[in-house]
Amino acid sequence: MSIANNLVNIKSKLPNQVTLVAVSKTKPVADLMEAYNAGQRIFGENKIQEMTEKWEQMPKDIQWHMIGHVQTNKVKYMAAYVTLIHGIDSLKLLEEINKQALKQHRIIDCLLQIYIAEEESKFGLDEQELIEILNSEEFQQLKNIKIVGLMGMATFTENQNQIKKEFQNLKRIFDKFQNQPTTYNLVPTTLSMGMSGDYKLAIESGSTMVRIGSSIFGTR
Ligand SMILES: *Cc1c(COP(=O)(O)O)cnc(C)c1O
Repeated sequence: MSIANNLVNIKSKLPNQVTLVAVSKTKPVADLMEAYNAGQRIFGENKIQEMTEKWEQMPKDIQWHMIGHVQTNKVKYMAAYVTLIHGIDSLKLLEEINKQALKQHRIIDCLLQIYIAEEESKFGLDEQELIEILNSEEFQQLKNIKIVGLMGMATFTENQNQIKKEFQNLKRIFDKFQNQPTTYNLVPTTLSMGMSGDYKLAIESGSTMVRIGSSIFGTR
């Protein structure tokens, strides 16, 4: 199967309201261009340096999503062009994104990452930490970021029931989050959950954005 065929196949399985982020980490620009030429305009990368190199080489109508864990000292390298940062799990990181966005005269859209898996290795906030960030004075001062939703990753397991439970838990938190009054920097519309192995379950559980890599580009 070609990359273009894989894209058509996956898109045929996505409801209209679900956005596809093509996760192109580790793949060469030639592969990304194949997806681009098949109409894909949203790409996800997990390393800032790699994403920036690809951004420099590729057409400028691409939306670049940072889906990996972000180091504070590297935010400046993507602040000029990044469309959405998925994996935010601290106020400190939000403050740095705000600072770099201000320098670029931009407002950068962000998702807060919620920890839903059983694995210790996955990053993210719990519900209490989420509430603390949103209620903090510091957050309310941030004018160059906008929280547009939540992101999460399920445990890497064959157990479909467990994955479903984790996604449903994230959806429950998202629903509460959406029912808060919106402010200039908090307008939650996006729930980023689901990867190649679990995106069908994620969509059943209410995902609005899936991040799919290997099913499009092949194994890494
Ligand atoms: C790599 C990655 C994906 C895509 O994973 P696949 O299993 O290849 O679809 C999605 N989300 C995040 C955060 C990733 O790091």
